[in-house]
Amino acid sequence: MTTEAEAADSLIRIMPESLANKIAAGEVVQRPASVVKELVENALDAGARTITVILKEAGKTLVQVIDDGCGMSPTDARLCFQRHATSKIRSLEDLERIRTLGFRGEALASIAAVARVELKTKRTQDTAGYRVQIEGGQLVAAEPCATANGTSVAVRNLFYNVPARRNFLKTPATEFKHIVETFQVLALSHPEVGFTLIHDDVEIYHLAPENDPSPTERLRRRIGALFGPEYALQSIPVEEMTSYLSVRGFLGRPELHRKSRGEQFFFVNRRYVRHRYLEHAVSGSYEHLIPEGTHPFFVLFLELDPRHVDVNVHPTKAEVKFDDERGIYGVLRAIVRRALGMANLIPQLEPATTVGMPPGREDSATQPSSRSNRPGSVPLRIPPGELSRRLYAVEAETESPAVQQTVLPSSVRPETDEETPEHHTLLWQVHDRYILTQIRSGLLLIDQNAAHERILYERALRNLESGFGLSQQLLFPQTLEFAPADFKLIEELLPELRALGFDLELFSGRTVVVRGVPDDIRPGDERTMLEDLLAQYKANLPLRLPSRENLARSVARRNAIRPGTRLTEEQMQALIDQLFLCETPYVSPTGRPTMIRLTLEELDRRFGRTPANRS
Ligand code: ADP
Ligand code: MG
Repeated sequence: MTTEAEAADSLIRIMPESLANKIAAGEVVQRPASVVKELVENALDAGARTITVILKEAGKTLVQVIDDGCGMSPTDARLCFQRHATSKIRSLEDLERIRTLGFRGEALASIAAVARVELKTKRTQDTAGYRVQIEGGQLVAAEPCATANGTSVAVRNLFYNVPARRNFLKTPATEFKHIVETFQVLALSHPEVGFTLIHDDVEIYHLAPENDPSPTERLRRRIGALFGPEYALQSIPVEEMTSYLSVRGFLGRPELHRKSRGEQFFFVNRRYVRHRYLEHAVSGSYEHLIPEGTHPFFVLFLELDPRHVDVNVHPTKAEVKFDDERGIYGVLRAIVRRALGMANLIPQLEPATTVGMPPGREDSATQPSSRSNRPGSVPLRIPPGELSRRLYAVEAETESPAVQQTVLPSSVRPETDEETPEHHTLLWQVHDRYILTQIRSGLLLIDQNAAHERILYERALRNLESGFGLSQQLLFPQTLEFAPADFKLIEELLPELRALGFDLELFSGRTVVVRGVPDDIRPGDERTMLEDLLAQYKANLPLRLPSRENLARSVARRNAIRPGTRLTEEQMQALIDQLFLCETPYVSPTGRPTMIRLTLEELDRRFGRTPANRS
C-alpha cells in the first residue's frame, strides 16, 4: 500500500494480525479469573443448566469449563475463535445488548491468542462431536470426536507465549482468590444453574441448581450454599420497586459482619459492579449496628432504566456511572435502613402493630410511584426511629407519675386515647436481667441494662445538642473539692455539663458547688453523680471519642439500671416504650445488642417442626 519512498518517510508500521490479537488479548484476559468469567458467561449464554469449572494451579496450567448448553456446529466451532465472531448480535437493535452485556465476539479469539485451547462441542441433533485445537492463535487441529452434548473449553498454559504477562501473574493463592470471587459472582446471579468448582482435584463448590418457584428463595438458598447456612439464615430479604429504581437481594444481619470487605455484591442491570459510593450507601446504613472497621454482607441487584446508567463495557472493568448518583445513594440508603429496621431489627410489638398506622400506608411504598420518577420523591416507608414514634403516636413526652418515683424517671404517654397502644402483652423479667415478651413474629428478649443505656444515651445526646437538659434542684447545695486536673476538666466541660442538666458553680481552682443535677438520675445518687460521671469520662479517654459522645456514653453507663434490679410491670413497659422511641433501638451505645429476637420459624426449626406437624 505504501511505496518505498513513503515508507522511508513514515514511522508508522501496520502490525501483523497475530501481534494485534495478542495486544488486544491483554484487554480481555488479564488473569486466569478473566478466562473463567468469559468461558462461564458463554456457557450461560448457551443455556447451560450445569457448569463445571476445573482448575490446575490456580488456572495457570488449566482452566476448563464444561457445560451442557446448546453446543456448536463444526463450522461454528472453527469460526468462534475469530475476532468479532459472535452469534449474539445480528442486527443494529442488538447494539443495545452490546452496551449492556458486552458481547463483542472477542473473548475466545483473545484467549486463543495467548494460550493453548482445546474446544470440544456437540449439539443434541448431531451424532458426533467436533474438536478444535488452537495454540497461540494458530489452528492446530479440527476434527470430529466423541463428546457429550454441550461444550467443553480447556485453556492450558495461559500466557505461555507472552512471558511478560505470565510473570505478571500473582501467587497461586491470589489468582485463586480472584477466581473464587468471579465464580461467586456468576453463581449468585444464576441460582437456577448448577455450578461446580474443582481445583487441583479438590471439589471446592458443588452448587445444586435451585428450582424454588420464588426468585428470593432461590437466591437465599444459593447464598447458603456458597457462604454457609448461617448466611442464608441471617440475611434479610429486600425487595423494593420504585418507578426509578428497583432493588432486590439480601442484607446480612449485623451478626454477619466481617473484618474484610470481600462479601459485598452489587449488580446493576444484572452486571456485577464495584461502586465505592453505593457500597458506602449500604455499609453506612449499618452504622452503630456493627463494630467500626467491619463490613456487612450483602447481595443486591439494582435495576433501573439503562438510560440512567452508563455501564462501561470494557471487558475487564465493571464500572458504572449514574446520571443521578446522589439520588440513587439516598434512595438506596433509605431502602436499606428500612429493610434493616422494619423487617427484622426493629421488632414489631404486638399491640403496636394495630395502631397508629393509617391503613394502606405501608403498602404504598412497595408500589411504583405514580407521582414522579425522580428518586427524591419515591414514596418510602417510614425510617426506623420515626416508625416507633408513629406507632406509638407520641409527639411529646409527658411524665407518668406511676413510674416517676422509681427507676425510670419518666414515661411516655400517647397524646390521644384512641391511639393508645393497649399494653396487654405479658412481660416477664428473667433473673432480674432480661425482659421477655411476645411479638408478632415470635419472642423478644431485652437486656434491661443495655436497653436503658441506649435510652439515656440518646437523651443525653439530645440534651447536649439542644442545651436543654432538665435539672433537678438540690435541697442542700453540695460543695465538692476536686484535684486540680479534675477541676480543669470540669471547667472545660462546663457548657456540656450544664446542657445535661447540671447546675454548677466553680470556685478557686478546686471547689465546685453543685446546686442541681440532671433530673433523670437514680434517687439517692445525686451526691456522687458528678464524681462518678467524671470517673467514667476519664475511663473512656483512651477511646478518643468526641467529648459529647464520651459524656453521653458516660451518663448512660452511670445511670442505666443495673442487671439484677427487679422491675415492676409498668417499669418494664416504660422501658420498652422508650426503647422503641430511640433512633437506634437495637444496640447499646457501645454496640452490644439490646434485644434478641427469636422468630416462630426459628423455634419451629429448633423443635423440628415442619409445616406438616406445626399445628
Ligand atoms: P461473544 O460471547 O461476545 O459472542 P465469544 O468470543 O465469547 O464472543 O464467543 C463467540 C461465539 O462462540 C459465541 O457468540 C457463541 O456463538 C459461540 N460460543 C462460545 N462459547 C460457547 C459455548 N460454551 N456454547 C455454545 N456456543 C458458544
Ligand atoms: Mg463471550
